[in-house]
Amino acid sequence: MIPVQPLVEKPLSPSKTTPEWKRELAEAITSPAVLLKQLELDQHPQWQQHADHSALTFPLKVPLAYVKRMRRGCADDPLLLQVLPQNAEHVAAAGFSADPVGDLHAQQSAGLLHKYRGRVLLVATGVCAIHCRYCFRREYPYESASASQSEWQSALDYIAADTSINEVILSGGDPLTLSDKRLDKLIGHIEAIPHVRRLRIHSRLPIVLPSRVTSGLCQRLAASRLHCVMVVHANHAQELDNSTAAALQQLRQAGVHCLNQAVLLADINDSVEALAELSERLFEQGALPYYLHSLDRVNGTAHFDASDERAKHLIRQLRARLSGYLVPTLVREIEGETSKTPL
Ligand SMILES: *Cc1c(COP(=O)(O)O)cnc(C)c1O
Ligand code: SF4
Repeated sequence: MIPVQPLVEKPLSPSKTTPEWKRELAEAITSPAVLLKQLELDQHPQWQQHADHSALTFPLKVPLAYVKRMRRGCADDPLLLQVLPQNAEHVAAAGFSADPVGDLHAQQSAGLLHKYRGRVLLVATGVCAIHCRYCFRREYPYESASASQSEWQSALDYIAADTSINEVILSGGDPLTLSDKRLDKLIGHIEAIPHVRRLRIHSRLPIVLPSRVTSGLCQRLAASRLHCVMVVHANHAQELDNSTAAALQQLRQAGVHCLNQAVLLADINDSVEALAELSERLFEQGALPYYLHSLDRVNGTAHFDASDERAKHLIRQLRARLSGYLVPTLVREIEGETSKTPL
C-alpha cells in the first residue's frame, strides 16, 4: 500500500528553527576564487587556479565571520594563509607522512583514542567549520574513524569499563559542529559514567564561528556535574576580536575553564612579537595559553614547518618577555609516548 501523505506538512521555516550559527556554517566560503575576490585580491602568488579544486579531499572551507578578520588586499594575511590551498601542498617532503602521530594505531573502538593515562579522546564528528591547511587531520579517514551516533555506544562502553579514565575529551573534526541536541545527548551519556570527572571540548568554533557559543550550550555546560574545560584554537592575535571576546566571556560565566592551543606556523606566527601578542590578547579575552604545538609532519604541510631550533629559540625569548602563565608549553606529538613531549 502506498503510504498516505500526512495532511499537515512539517513546518518548513528554517529561518525560525535553524540557529544562526548553522546558517553561517552553511554559508561558509568553499571557493578560493570567491575568497580572494572578497579580499580584493585578483590573484595570489601561492595559489593557481586548479581546475580540480572541488575534487580535493580537503577543500577550502572558511566561515565569513572569520574572513571578516582578514585584511583586504593583503596576500600574506596570517589568517588567509591558514586556509588558502597552496601549490606547495602538492610537493612531497621527506619526513612527512599520512599519519605522523599514530592515531590509527591508538584507536580503541570506533572514534575513540586512548593514548594517555586518565583521558580519552572521542572523535565525535569528522566535520569542521573551517579547514586549516596545516591540520594533521587533513589525511585522516574520517568516514571510517569518527564515531557516528550509533558507534558512540561502543566508545561509551569502553570508557565505562575502565575506571582509570576520569576525563573525556570531545574532539574531531570539531565537536561543536554537532547540534546542541546531539551534544546534550552525548554529554548525558558521559555524565552517567560515575568515574568520569571532567569534560574537555577541543574546538575552534568559539574562534572561527563565535555565534556557536549559544546560551543553550552555555547553560548545558553550566548544569553539568562534570568540570568543563574548553580548549579553543587560535594561532594569531588577529583572530581575536570583540566577537571572540564575547564568546569566551559567556563560556567563563558558565563556569567553563578556557585554554588555547596554537600551532607554530612558518610565516604566520613564528616571531616573538606574534606569539607574545597572541598570549596577551588571549588572556584579555579570558583564555590561558596551553600548548604551542610544533607542526605534525603530515603530507602537504612542509611549507608551514618551523625548525625545532627556531621553536625553542622563540619560546626562550617569550619566557624572557612575558609572565610565566602567558607562556604556552611547546610540545610535539611523538608516537608511542605517554604524553605530548615538551621540546
Ligand atoms: C593530545 C591528546 C590528549 C590530550 O593531552 P593533554 O596533554 O592532556 O592535553 C589526549 N588524548 C589524545 C589521543 C591526544 O592526542
Ligand atoms: S581539526 Fe581543528 S585544526 Fe584541523 S581542520 Fe578542523 S578546526 Fe582546523
